[in-house]
Amino acid sequence: MTAKLQQREMELYRPNTAIDLLQIPGLGRLLRWSWGRLVLQIPLFIAAVFLIIDGLTGPQVAPRNLATVAPWVHYRGLVVIALLLVGNLFCMGCPFHIPRTLAKRLSLRGRRFPKILRNKWIAIGSLFLLFFLYESLNLWASPSLTAWVIVAYFVASFAMEAVFTESAFCKYVCPLGTFNFVYSTASPTQIATKRADVCANCQGKECINGSWASQPIIRTDEIPITNETGDIETQARQVDNGPLGVLGCGTQLFAPQIKSNLDCVFCLDCVRACPHENIGLMVRTPGRELMQVDAWPKKWDISFLVIILAFMGVVNAFGMVPPVYELQNALMRNFNLTEMLTLLLIFLVGGILLPISLTLAVACLTQALTQTVKKYPLRHTVAAFAPSFVPIGFGIWFAHYGFHFLIAPLSIIPVIQEFVGQTAEWARFSVSADSGLIGLIQVVVLVGGFLWSMLIAQRTALRLYRRRGVQGLLPWALLLFLLMLTALNIFSLPMEMRGSVLLS
Ligand code: SF4
Ligand code: SF4
Repeated sequence: MTAKLQQREMELYRPNTAIDLLQIPGLGRLLRWSWGRLVLQIPLFIAAVFLIIDGLTGPQVAPRNLATVAPWVHYRGLVVIALLLVGNLFCMGCPFHIPRTLAKRLSLRGRRFPKILRNKWIAIGSLFLLFFLYESLNLWASPSLTAWVIVAYFVASFAMEAVFTESAFCKYVCPLGTFNFVYSTASPTQIATKRADVCANCQGKECINGSWASQPIIRTDEIPITNETGDIETQARQVDNGPLGVLGCGTQLFAPQIKSNLDCVFCLDCVRACPHENIGLMVRTPGRELMQVDAWPKKWDISFLVIILAFMGVVNAFGMVPPVYELQNALMRNFNLTEMLTLLLIFLVGGILLPISLTLAVACLTQALTQTVKKYPLRHTVAAFAPSFVPIGFGIWFAHYGFHFLIAPLSIIPVIQEFVGQTAEWARFSVSADSGLIGLIQVVVLVGGFLWSMLIAQRTALRLYRRRGVQGLLPWALLLFLLMLTALNIFSLPMEMRGSVLLS
């Protein structure tokens, strides 16, 4: 790509502010530091080890065990808040990266992940599996099972990193990371380069290739700089790569071409590797990429991931309200199925079959109403509207996870007290947020998410169909509206508290 084209591309997709969070004194320095990420990871790694210990040896009572309270109540609540306010902070500090990095250092540079699997289908499967196992095995109520899930996570991430060159576990498998990738597209921050002409003259492209080398390597780059009079002149800069360098982007994103937060784990390795300090963690309008044409690849797996995740939010919440038991009983009675099979049926239909069939039906209807069957392939139509499912999906998950978090936001304190052998102050820390306030927050995020989704869908319809924009919008608007209405109905029902029942 020529420098001019690259410049245009960068301008189009770059965050629309010049605010770089890495310029904040102290914070920027810490995050840019070679070991900066480890400072975030080590406390979380230690916390994960404590969770495993408590899960396997502590009281097998969900609200009193770290293994159940921390991940199922607090982690999930804090993740959605962080995604909304900042970005993919959990992946940035993910403790599962520590054994992965170790594996990478030990490995003999394995092979690339099989091409046929380089997509999001496995991630969709692993998300489905996690949600289904959570419900069918009552993971939220079982500290020991949750501890084993954490152990399995460490083993899987270590094994995959040892075998494959890229961060295949993060990019193609991890359900937690996939959730974060999808909803960080609504976040107000994004990794971006600052000057395209600097990237064009950078010889090593360390942001993706890494600045690590077994032997010291020195080269000189001719980098354009703007002088005091505003003119651009060239400056020779020495670049030193060597054993103290860092790895390049694990998920194979090339910083100058980043258009989206999809696949970005916010590890900042690109920032540390770039020899010209040309990458920032930039503030942008929240969800800016959702409004941009071609910010996402037009691929079935990505489109369905986003849409299925929104529907799974509804199904997941449905699994916690009384009608699910009535439905399960009816299915068991009428079809002679076990409890687990009925649950699998509900999850498969509601979380996979329904979103796929409804999406395809709506896309076909849109093509028919706008007479664009020949102009836009079905895949393009679905891909164009897929980003509009991010805000509504995020609203659904926020309403769900926020509920559990706000029911007992401080309950982690007595659990920690008990874990370290102190007297647990249950009465003091078992305070719940006002139920009216929780209900209000749920309505606000659901309706707000729906309106945001409608705005994106409307923009897409007008851009694609111009005079037939209304006809193009209608089927998608109806689907989004039904999704919101179903979610509102579910959240208006009494919900199980799961792991956050207040102890007397
Ligand atoms: S290493 Fe830095 S300057 Fe070089 S291409 Fe990457 S972002 Fe641009
Ligand atoms: S190295 Fe890759 S994954 Fe990490 S912050 Fe940079 S672009 Fe994102």
